[in-house]
Amino acid sequence: MEGDFVVTPWQVTGDIDYDQLIQRFGTKKVDQALLDRLAGYGPLHPMLRRGVVYSQRDMEWLLDLYDKGVKFSLYTGRGPSGNTHLGHLMPWIFCKYLQDTFGAPLYFQMTDDEKFLFNEGLSLEDTYQKAMDNALDVIALGFDPDKTKIIIDTDCIRTLYPLSLKVAKKVTFSTAKAVFGFDNSTNIGSIFFTSVQSAPAFLPSVLEGRNVPILIPCGIDQDPHFRVTRDVAESLGFYKPALLHTKMFPGLTGGDKMSSSVPDSTIYTTDTAKVVRRKVGNAFTGGAVSAEEQRKTGGKPEVCAVFKYQYYLFEPSDQALDDLADRCRKGDVLCGECKKMLSDRLVHFLEGHQRRREEAKSQLGRFIMRCE
Ligand code: SF4
Repeated sequence: MEGDFVVTPWQVTGDIDYDQLIQRFGTKKVDQALLDRLAGYGPLHPMLRRGVVYSQRDMEWLLDLYDKGVKFSLYTGRGPSGNTHLGHLMPWIFCKYLQDTFGAPLYFQMTDDEKFLFNEGLSLEDTYQKAMDNALDVIALGFDPDKTKIIIDTDCIRTLYPLSLKVAKKVTFSTAKAVFGFDNSTNIGSIFFTSVQSAPAFLPSVLEGRNVPILIPCGIDQDPHFRVTRDVAESLGFYKPALLHTKMFPGLTGGDKMSSSVPDSTIYTTDTAKVVRRKVGNAFTGGAVSAEEQRKTGGKPEVCAVFKYQYYLFEPSDQALDDLADRCRKGDVLCGECKKMLSDRLVHFLEGHQRRREEAKSQLGRFIMRCE
């Protein structure tokens, strides 16, 4: 395998070469022509402008249909194995932008079955409870309740199962092994699972009684699932879903991905202000060994986790971001000041999010899809 990084739906390790990943997965870069076209529907989201949303499949086709009046639906999801962190929130925030820009309905799948099958230590009750808890974070982002349905797999399996079966009949074990790296020790539920993850991509077509184009915004690590979905779609009479991929949200302690297995690299949506300030205080930066040295030599924003947080999610102004990078390189700003600025922003964001999360408890009934 080229490079020394691994990106699968269940494992992300090493320094990710995102351009090489496009080659590996056979996707297409989000190029200037697509950005120009997207800008015609509304202001470009900073994640698009900054290349955080950087890879795609079939976006031109989807927009051609949209321009002819064919409305699409959005589909994304979450494997509910624990608390929600900012890395999960990032593609959902982008998804909300897509819903707002295109007025698209969203189907949000909570794969409580997947997390039960793939995690030795989690019971089905655990993953179900996490699905309900994570749903609060989705609702707190402000999705339109009239256009958003959260599907909890084990609740909705009667609806998903016929579609899953149709997918499963088209996918061989050999394909599942090649795409996901399964072997003979893999439990048979895991082998079947990708067909359940495909089902919501076809569900809008079944519900609306027409072939509904689908756009899936997701982390690039989820692309293997949807390669399988796309491979079987046309033979089942559906469109292949289009995709927009985000890069992985960086960890605070350095590295390419925020990970629940390294708690200090991760800001959870339920973290207190004190915890946030401690984690940011310990973050990996591109600063020099001493303040004096840094004033002389400057810092390296391109490797700095604190800078990356501003870049990926928290600094809306491109100009302010350029200024910060410039001041860092010249040694005009020191890491302590920078960490304080990020902590203040994170605390402010989380205070609002946690308030909306509480309010979301009374709205669950409007968002969770009812299935017979
Ligand atoms: Fe990072 Fe800010 Fe330190 Fe520069 S000054 S290395 S951007 S924390």
